[in-house]
Amino acid sequence: MKKIVVKFGGSNLRKPQDIDRIVNVVQTYNRPLVLVVSAFYGITNALIECVQAAKEGAGTQAALADSRNYTQTLRTLKSEILIANISDAALRVDIEKALGERLDQLDRYLTGIHCIGDVPTFVNDAILSYGERLSSLLLSEVLKSRGIAAQEALPEDIGLMTDGVFGNSACDFAASSASVAEALSADKVYVVPGFYGVDASGKTTLFGRGGSDYSAASIAACIDAESLDVWKDVDGFLSADPGAVSAPRSIAQLNYLEAAELSYFGAKILHPRTVEPLFDREIPIRILNIMRPERGLQPYTLINAQRKVTRDVVKSVTSTEDVAILKLHGPGVGFKAGILAEVTQTLDSHGINIKSVLTAQTAINVLLSRDHLDAAYAAVSAHHLNGVVEVSRNDAVAIVAVVGDGVLDASDVGSAIASRALSAAIASGVRVCLAAAGASEVAAYMLVHEDDRKRALQAVHAEFFGV
Ligand code: ASP
Ligand code: MG
Repeated sequence: MKKIVVKFGGSNLRKPQDIDRIVNVVQTYNRPLVLVVSAFYGITNALIECVQAAKEGAGTQAALADSRNYTQTLRTLKSEILIANISDAALRVDIEKALGERLDQLDRYLTGIHCIGDVPTFVNDAILSYGERLSSLLLSEVLKSRGIAAQEALPEDIGLMTDGVFGNSACDFAASSASVAEALSADKVYVVPGFYGVDASGKTTLFGRGGSDYSAASIAACIDAESLDVWKDVDGFLSADPGAVSAPRSIAQLNYLEAAELSYFGAKILHPRTVEPLFDREIPIRILNIMRPERGLQPYTLINAQRKVTRDVVKSVTSTEDVAILKLHGPGVGFKAGILAEVTQTLDSHGINIKSVLTAQTAINVLLSRDHLDAAYAAVSAHHLNGVVEVSRNDAVAIVAVVGDGVLDASDVGSAIASRALSAAIASGVRVCLAAAGASEVAAYMLVHEDDRKRALQAVHAEFFGV
């Protein structure tokens, strides 16, 4: 019997009592599973701050004390979770000991930073993985205490191998599939910490921020799972962010491409890379809401290979502020052979990923993540590209995208979609800086002034959904 991979994220792990909901879900499945868990809400961010503070204060007693205080905070938090979830005091002592050992490892890494005054990338990745490592140990122990045959399974022990890129690795399926499948084959509930795998020398390498979804998808691919079930605290993918639009609809089905584009353009439900490992193998993703136990195991959104053009074509309107424009001006850049290659090489050599490029005769617009804009601007300015007379930057922008199979269809319905979205935004007074239709078969997007983001979302959503 194929297994289901079940992912619980930070939104399912906010309070000690939340563990109870997860136990209930596991009991509802009532079959062997592979669980993939994230850190408790906010823990990864706190660890990042902790690493930064340790680096900046390296060598000082005060900073060392701060690091210790943080691991002490984690110890206290874990004890609270244990008290809330395990009634047997003797058992709690045993588990606390195991958690304590893990926190001691974390302490040692932080102390290392204080000693050397630097954070080698492998140390950074190791430290940030501790949020997940604590969740998996805790959850597996709580499940066992409730009579469920559970076992923690660490990526290093099951052979979840990566390409070795610290901070942003990808799974090496050729190296992982057989060992992961073998290691997770017994009739048990395995609990795997998300967010990381290991390189060829056994070092922890992270899958990037929000990477537990990708961990779960990779494991699902390795074991050829029946499905990947992702538990959230909302009703699956919606037609728009409920914070921006008053009555968004829940979307019952999306194909892989639509889900990937929605995630890429800002929907917070899934990490954009989640569909990558599942696409070829046609393993479905099911999005469920842990706050609605009455629905049992019925998903809100099912993501699979099925391509469905709905009557209204657009399934969701989404947006993100994680974008910035780097603009290279020059009277003939549109005609200059090789210039784009130089730009991309320069950015690549600084580890900067390009989101999109739009060119015209007198300007090249490079869309980047906002965090990368300073470095990209500095790199391109320093490089003196032949033909470029000025480099400018703009981070007061946001992307608004419409996603749905058929958006770029040449038929009457499809081809009208992008222009309807654009007209609706402009008619409501939105300042549009750039627009692109055709970047993918299922998405069209525009860049608007960041202050107009909400207004654009509302106008475009109203155009297609009436509210
Ligand atoms: N805890 C990690 C993060 O915050 C991974 C995840 O939550 O998926 O980025
Ligand atoms: Mg997440």
